[in-house]
Amino acid sequence: MTPFEALGLDQPLLHAISDLGFENPSEVQEKAIPILLAKETDLVALAQTGTGKTAAFGFPLIQKIHVESRTTQGLILSPTRELCLQITNEIQLYSKYMKGLNTVAIYGGASISEQAKKIKKGAQIVVATPGRMKDMIGRGMVDISKIDYCILDEADEMLNMGFYEDIKDILSNTPQEKSTWLFSATMPKEVSSIAKKFMYKPHEITVGEKNTGATTVQHEHYVVGGRDRYPALKRLADANPGIFSVVFCRTKRDTQKVAEKLIEDGYNAGALHGDLSQNQRDLVMNAFRKKQIQMLVATDVAARGIDVDDITHVINYQLPDEIETYTHRSGRTGRAGKSGISMVIVTRSELRKIKAIEKKIKQDFIEKKIPTGIEICEIQLYHLTRSIKDTPINEEIEGYLPAINDVLKDVDREELIKKIVSVEFTRFYNYYSKTRDLNAAGSHSEGKERSGKGNYESTGDGSVRYFINVGERDGFDWMSLKDFLKENLGLDKEDIYKVDTKDSFSFFNTDDSLTPLVLEIFTDFKVDGRFINVEVSTKPGRGGKSKKRNRGRRDDRRGRGGSKGRNASNFKGGKNKSGKRKNKNRKGFV
Ligand code: ADP
Ligand code: MG
Repeated sequence: MTPFEALGLDQPLLHAISDLGFENPSEVQEKAIPILLAKETDLVALAQTGTGKTAAFGFPLIQKIHVESRTTQGLILSPTRELCLQITNEIQLYSKYMKGLNTVAIYGGASISEQAKKIKKGAQIVVATPGRMKDMIGRGMVDISKIDYCILDEADEMLNMGFYEDIKDILSNTPQEKSTWLFSATMPKEVSSIAKKFMYKPHEITVGEKNTGATTVQHEHYVVGGRDRYPALKRLADANPGIFSVVFCRTKRDTQKVAEKLIEDGYNAGALHGDLSQNQRDLVMNAFRKKQIQMLVATDVAARGIDVDDITHVINYQLPDEIETYTHRSGRTGRAGKSGISMVIVTRSELRKIKAIEKKIKQDFIEKKIPTGIEICEIQLYHLTRSIKDTPINEEIEGYLPAINDVLKDVDREELIKKIVSVEFTRFYNYYSKTRDLNAAGSHSEGKERSGKGNYESTGDGSVRYFINVGERDGFDWMSLKDFLKENLGLDKEDIYKVDTKDSFSFFNTDDSLTPLVLEIFTDFKVDGRFINVEVSTKPGRGGKSKKRNRGRRDDRRGRGGSKGRNASNFKGGKNKSGKRKNKNRKGFV
């Protein structure tokens, strides 16, 4: 008797399971399948991503369907189109020896009438996203009034995505006496309230610890300056030559931008976000599944459905706003018992978010250093050597060997090896040999060299405060000023903080690593013919040295162009204590 047979599964399923190569049931399968086969009951099953939940409900569901009837008997609700297709595909594989069993997927972004047609032919199992399901019920295109089983898959994600009302509506169209099986990776209170409201004395099973991400995932964070996110991402990719990853960004714009840059820099990358057409998204996902894309840059919403095994790394290019989202991101790796790494690129000011996440996932992050250029060269070199060793020989070369040998006859083995390796390696070496260290100083105990005669030591937290000669009078509030700065400095929102607008001037902070950039950009910076000036604030203890430096720059500027003389009076404000600056500046501002 095979382990699956012992769970009570019948021949057609066992046959399919052996085709799939599953040898032993996973824990959630072992716990759920016998219960679901033995009796009609509601069930709540908590298990992390990648633990085989689809089969845990799929096997018993398939076995319980009456194939001789064409009535829809089972409904599976899942949060995204991607997952919907994935589940449908799995169910079809599991049921391939069940003649007459039809499973149909319905989801948004595809022809509703096509889907309705398929349902009409008779679908005993329907796999649906809540939105499209509701739509089709409304139009009388699907009848779920006789179902025996309703499965809520990835219930936490469905609720996260705001499907509560839709789910409630859909359930109200189903018979009272059906069984409801709820599967979820986490158990936030929204999920338990669904369980309370819509289920009757559910059996509960839990695999692993509640509320934690998969323990096979190692969490790492890398502290860099806000401007260094992209070069840091590149290094992380280069330091992991076999990488197969999802890179998460916060906005569609960043997602597109990062993907474009990666492609430009020669990586196999692709973007996945909501501004792409369904067709474009399918193309990207297919390429990713086939591993033609090694780095899939995605927004959280677009990546919800990604259910691809073997993802080696999840890279958080930016942290998400919600901690819960981090769990979903990192759950994309370490699936099906494999191990994975979730990397987070953070600025120093975000470190407290890491603490909050650690608490939530009950796992510590490892603080790692962005590899140096030389380290990456080394890694690439060994990787290259190994892949040369492992390259299968193309026998076609045989015939050309005499000619090849002739060309190489004066090159000895040692030299030949060096040359072969150089073909690839020189590219990396040229790029990396002169690059700087990207790790933000001060993040780690090693990074404290600065504290002696410190430029900015008195802020203590490695940040610098600036004065800027625009304020509320110019129509700014702190939010719009932050946007203005972000835009013009090319920084992320979180790189600019403590924005404080006064009547005719304002203050803001950045990490000190960004000071050269800020001062550089705001040299000769004009809007509508008017100079916008930024100086390091002279508040006591806010960094004397750089103020001097800045003043020098300003004088330079004044010296260079006669026409700027009139504006120069604007910049006096920066030297004074904030309170007195107002009147002096007023004239220059209009
Ligand atoms: P979950 O829904 O819990 O995230 P899935 O059901 O998508 O996980 O399963 C993850 C992967 O593991 C899939 O590729 C699936 O085919 C595979 N899998 C499921 N059960 C088994 C098993 N018993 N043995 C081997 N692989 C399995
Ligand atoms: Mg699943």
